[in-house]
Amino acid sequence: MYQALYRKWRPKTFDEVVGQEHITRTLKKQVETGRLSHAYLFVGTRGTGKTTCARILAKAVNCENPQNGNPCGKCASCRAIDEGTALDIVEMDAASNSKVEDVRSLREEVIYSPASLRKRVYIIDEVHMLSNSAFNALLKIMEEPPEHLMFILATTELNKVPATILSRCQKHSFKRIETSLISDQLMKIASAEGFMLQSDAATLLGRLSEGGMRDAISLLDQCSSAGTITTDTVYDVLGLAGNREIVSALKCIKEGKTQKAIEDFNRLWSNGKDPAAFLTDLTALIRDVLLLKIAPGVSESILSSSCNVSELREFADSMEKAELIKDAGLLEKSLGIMKTDKNPKTEAELCLISLCEDVGTVKKTESVPLSCDVKHEIKQEKRLTVTDAPENSEVLSNGKADIVFTDETRKEVKEEEQRDLEDPWEQIKAIFMPGLKQSARSIFDNSRFVPEIKGNSLVLNVTDDFLYGQLNRTEITDAISSAASRVLGREISASVTKDGASNSSVHNIKELSRFPEVKFI
Ligand SMILES: [Zn+2]
Repeated sequence: MYQALYRKWRPKTFDEVVGQEHITRTLKKQVETGRLSHAYLFVGTRGTGKTTCARILAKAVNCENPQNGNPCGKCASCRAIDEGTALDIVEMDAASNSKVEDVRSLREEVIYSPASLRKRVYIIDEVHMLSNSAFNALLKIMEEPPEHLMFILATTELNKVPATILSRCQKHSFKRIETSLISDQLMKIASAEGFMLQSDAATLLGRLSEGGMRDAISLLDQCSSAGTITTDTVYDVLGLAGNREIVSALKCIKEGKTQKAIEDFNRLWSNGKDPAAFLTDLTALIRDVLLLKIAPGVSESILSSSCNVSELREFADSMEKAELIKDAGLLEKSLGIMKTDKNPKTEAELCLISLCEDVGTVKKTESVPLSCDVKHEIKQEKRLTVTDAPENSEVLSNGKADIVFTDETRKEVKEEEQRDLEDPWEQIKAIFMPGLKQSARSIFDNSRFVPEIKGNSLVLNVTDDFLYGQLNRTEITDAISSAASRVLGREISASVTKDGASNSSVHNIKELSRFPEVKFI
């Protein structure tokens, strides 16, 4: 008969338990020194080793020849417990035995000495499911426990266990097992079982199991019929093939391939994929990429999408933080609209178009200096038409030909620059804004500034103190200067003014005139 992998690989000693050393160390010590408690409470999410440790503890306290606190696994007691024939080890699942009668009968039973073992151990799984009266009956036993009795309670929901029970138990908290520990264990099992398991696939299985070893081993079991277990095998076997589609959608967004994104989405939709679920999966993927971008050393266990980590890292390396944040915002907005929208498919398509086209505009801005150079040259050609150099003019060299500026042409050029500025300003913004902090970005998003060009300087005039304080910062003016220099094709120095005052000290001196004792001469 086929034995499920997770049963076959269930730890038989404390030393074999993975990722809960803080608990197994203490329990081993207690077995060694004989300083045992009458009642233990094991708390933790599913599959983290609570029941396994309860069984090992039950064996260890009854073992005839314990090894450093571990059960020997060979003596008659150990064998009887392993085979499930030991009458003194009673496992109850409170989820199915929550009736008070069961605990009452337990009360009658507990007074008798163990039949064959040293200690009678009651393991009550999902103890929070007991009814109040069952809890009260249990409490009565725990108040005056006979020497031969031990309770090991396990729960996934600590807050549902009455304080009166809690106070009588020694509590141990089981952690979610780290992804790397789970994948190492899966590699070990695979090699012992003769499976070809790729390490990427082991990591993916580890992440999918969310810190539970039992689930991870069960997932490996499901994939084990494949010749070589790759991440694709995992996606296929576990019905997660859609993840590849999500990864492909993000590739389209990154590369601005709108048509492919829409076609792919329509194919998924025809196969029954819910548009909101599609966008939610995409959001989870972008969140993960963003996390890896912001904190490259982040633990893989906090990643939420079920995508391959190396693919996530590739995205993180090739995508801009600002772009990812913007994409996440667009997705969130569309998901909000979908809640009330009668045509979620259209909304998903519109969202995909904005996501893909968005990249297009970022790419366009990268070529902005080139198009501006062209504009600039057109202007220069115009200037070159002034061939005579009248009085009150200056002659500049652009390296190709002498350009003659007259007052008239200067004025003309200035007006022309002013007219063009509204458009270049959008281009300048597109370059410097992604590098700004969110708070500064939102000022530019929400306020309409029309900067003024004075010679080689670009001046942003604001009307209130708050905006002035927010924008008159070196990191912002430097970013604007460098973006404007790129867009306008010459060295530009940006500054911020408030109500026409060029700097804050001038403003402060002006304010002094409000006091009668201050007189400006
Ligand atoms: Zn033993």
